[in-house]
Amino acid sequence: MKLKQPDIRGFFSPSDEKPDFKPTPMMAQYLDVKARHKEYLLFYRMGDFYELFFDDAKIAASHLGIALTKRGKINDQEIPMCGVPVHSSQTYLSRLIKSGFKVAIAEQLEEKTKKIENKKGPKIFKRDVVKIITPGTILEDSLLESKSHNHLLSISVFRGDVSLAWIDMTTGSIKLQRIAGSKFKEDLLECMNKIEPGEIIISYEQIKLNFLKENLKSFEKIVTEVPPSFFDVQNNKEKIQDFFQSSRIESIGDLFDNDISATGALLNYLELTQKKNIPLVKNFEILNKNDYMQIDMFSEKSLEIFQKTDGEKRGSLIDVIDKTKTSAGGRLLREFLKTPLINKKEIKRRHNLAESFLSSFELLKRTTSLLSGLPDVERAMSRISANTKNPRDLAMLSLFIEKANNIFNELRESKNKILKELIPSEKILALASKMRNLIVGQIHEMPPINLNDGGVIKDGVDKKLDDLRNIKNLKKSEILEFQSKYALATDVNNLKIKFNNFHGYFIETTNKNSEKIKQCNAINFRLIQNTINTSRFQTEELKETSLEIERSESESIELETNIYEKICLEISNKSDCINILSKKISFIDVISNFSILSNEKGYVKPDLVDNVSIEIVNGRHPVVEDSLEKEGINFTPNDCFMNSKNGTWLMTGPNMAGKSTFLRQTAIIILLNQIGCFIPAESAKLSIFDKIFTRIGASDNLSQGMSTFMTEMVETSRIINEATSSSLVILDELGRGTSTEDGLAIARAVLEFIVKEIRCITLFATHYKELCVLSEKFKVIKPKTLQIKKWNEEIVFLYKVIDGISEGSFGIHVANLAGINESIVSRAKDVLKKTNKKESLALKDTKSFEFDKKKENKNYNEIVNLIKKLDLDDLSPKDSLDILYTIKKNYLS
Ligand code: ADP
Repeated sequence: MKLKQPDIRGFFSPSDEKPDFKPTPMMAQYLDVKARHKEYLLFYRMGDFYELFFDDAKIAASHLGIALTKRGKINDQEIPMCGVPVHSSQTYLSRLIKSGFKVAIAEQLEEKTKKIENKKGPKIFKRDVVKIITPGTILEDSLLESKSHNHLLSISVFRGDVSLAWIDMTTGSIKLQRIAGSKFKEDLLECMNKIEPGEIIISYEQIKLNFLKENLKSFEKIVTEVPPSFFDVQNNKEKIQDFFQSSRIESIGDLFDNDISATGALLNYLELTQKKNIPLVKNFEILNKNDYMQIDMFSEKSLEIFQKTDGEKRGSLIDVIDKTKTSAGGRLLREFLKTPLINKKEIKRRHNLAESFLSSFELLKRTTSLLSGLPDVERAMSRISANTKNPRDLAMLSLFIEKANNIFNELRESKNKILKELIPSEKILALASKMRNLIVGQIHEMPPINLNDGGVIKDGVDKKLDDLRNIKNLKKSEILEFQSKYALATDVNNLKIKFNNFHGYFIETTNKNSEKIKQCNAINFRLIQNTINTSRFQTEELKETSLEIERSESESIELETNIYEKICLEISNKSDCINILSKKISFIDVISNFSILSNEKGYVKPDLVDNVSIEIVNGRHPVVEDSLEKEGINFTPNDCFMNSKNGTWLMTGPNMAGKSTFLRQTAIIILLNQIGCFIPAESAKLSIFDKIFTRIGASDNLSQGMSTFMTEMVETSRIINEATSSSLVILDELGRGTSTEDGLAIARAVLEFIVKEIRCITLFATHYKELCVLSEKFKVIKPKTLQIKKWNEEIVFLYKVIDGISEGSFGIHVANLAGINESIVSRAKDVLKKTNKKESLALKDTKSFEFDKKKENKNYNEIVNLIKKLDLDDLSPKDSLDILYTIKKNYLS
């Protein structure tokens, strides 16, 4: 097995070293387990601690900042050891997993009772690995982000086609997507970006494929290489059938061999890491990217949907619009944003539901307050089916069913007919109630986290369990009686009977009183241990009672475990009904989230229209509006009316005038509409867009070895190749990463191509005002700018989009605003003046042409020559004249 764990160097491999020493029985057992789990940090259960030894201990101690100690020796060398308490192990595990380690958990497997019975036999518990925790196979809540999925992704390549299968083990759904065709390399990266895998498994044969290596560069840390046998089609076919309890693979889905490889590999990996306790898989879905509006990776990043460009989640779109009350609702909202709809009917349905909630405002308030206390039942259900033995999961499930029922009752009682579709069928509700009764009838309301602590099953559920508990209580009161009896017999008043795992019950007194106890003739006290201040004793009767208590305790825990597992099995078998319930509740959470946005932030329901167009009255940017509001500043709303007749807006304007904000807000409004959300505007009529492309600002992608300009061109080429007439294209400062001449030429060529060939709605912001003359040639191009006001020497930004061309870029003004040293600002003004003068002279000199619009006819030939010189000869004389006019206005005025 070759599992990559790049951070671990010089791993100690006990079996390789063949140590020529006689290990203690415990160490021999450890070495055996470790030899089978070399690639993982081994958490080895010893009493209330997980201990780590050898290099595992060194690595863990340094990563966790805990003390490195020693235990025993190998060939005169001390064995390094460190440990973490079981009860707080989650925090430590979480840190190790986040640092890229994989951890194997070895537990005590033997029942306590057996050990008690075999007291004279082997002294140690049988131990082995019960689970391997890797970044993609985490089930514990404390190791997961509540509002994000944690996907384990498997990739399989066959004859150039790629199948991707991924599972969120915590919610039990597998999804599959195929990538084929000429653009599959780009599509692969896109798809992985959408999936956001926590871990990727791939065969160590296929990872050698160049295109995979290249695409996986930025995912390097989360790639786990597994044997090619994990992807074997024939074995996997059977495995999938078994897993879904289906006799025919066709009934699971229309799967090609490559899909079977990828899906089966997931299941093989789950078996490897979870051993027998694999959570139930509730859904299997084959995704087709054409079923959703596409927002590619670049656009997702530049619109800052999930995180800002600096990687911060705060201040992203989802951060501002997420008002969901449950973790599952938060995850669903994220999914909605990853897969916006193109199906008008479904968008309308979500709009109407949100509107209905708004119209029943009291109902909305009650629903959201009920949603607030709802536990994450999706994840609890997965843990229950994976046999993680945390009784609180059952308590959570019962609480969820109760609260979900309350929400459905509210909906049922309301007069609002539309919202009734959110209530599950009576059959599902009845099944869920039965499940709840089962839990409430047998499990304590607030059981301990650990099944082995006992006290999970209620009294009266099982006669034998009640008897065992009675014996235990009886024996415990005997212990109290012993204590008084011993104190009296020895005349030692501070004598105490205590308990530990090693001795069971024992008598403890200060060393000062030890002699008194030893000299007692009436009772035979046996000294079992001396500590610095105390002496410990035992008597035959105390030992016997202690064993009886332990026996009845472990027997009752065994019995409780059996009852508990039976309940879990019954629930797992009917988990479908909980799945339906939790899906309904998450959906209600997201829909009411949309209504809350409307109520709190004044978002409105847009009308949906068929012809490609945008009509937004007083639209706002949700995130900028939010951050300005915190500073007490009002956001200036803007209209946006675009259709096939005026579908390209060419926006010029100074830096900081609000261009990017306007471009982004338009794209975000379209996106919000297509997830079914209301939008930040006064009113809107919107058509459905198939794709959104936004190319805003220049950024390097140095990890992929691409410069700013290369990145810009790659992104632009994707837009050119993929945009359709129903897409929304947003380009901001295209051509900025190269020389002005190159940049202008490229910007113009791209703009012309979009207008002539793609004909989609386009917002094109640029500093190249020369491009504005194209509005004469192409009527769909409308020059727009942002209003400014000059006041004394200063410029005031008004943030209003108006018709026209910007007067200038006012870059030096912005530099001044940014606090650049005054002498530099004044020098820049000087340089600018001189440059302008030089350019105007050059224009005069080289062309010997004093431009005068009135003389344009007389100077016609001269103009034509000049146009040739300027390489503008593919334009009409009138367009060319306009360019000259623009040049003159820019450079001479
Ligand atoms: P540009 O792209 O023209 O350089 P930005 O869109 O980045 O300008 O806007 C710069 C800043 O101006 C924003 O961070 C915000 O503070 C402010 N701003 C932009 N648009 C508006 C608006 N419509 N209303 C109020 N403030 C705005």
